[in-house]
Amino acid sequence: MKTMTCNQLGGKCDVSITAATADEMMAKGMAHLGEAHPEMAADIKKMPEDDPIMKAWYAKFLADFAAAPEVA
Ligand SMILES: [Zn+2]
Repeated sequence: MKTMTCNQLGGKCDVSITAATADEMMAKGMAHLGEAHPEMAADIKKMPEDDPIMKAWYAKFLADFAAAPEVA
């Protein structure tokens, strides 16, 4: 399992999110955004998946996830 903070995912707080895979981290991150920062979640949902900002975010996310420390 790896832990990242909401901030690392581009969010606004330092809540820790733990997940086994990048996909799971993404899903849990979006769920957290929907609950804690619904205005950000709405903005993201409006963006097309091939938006350059989203692509850049995803590349950074994968690198940050790979670099995140493993936790039990
Ligand atoms: Zn947050």
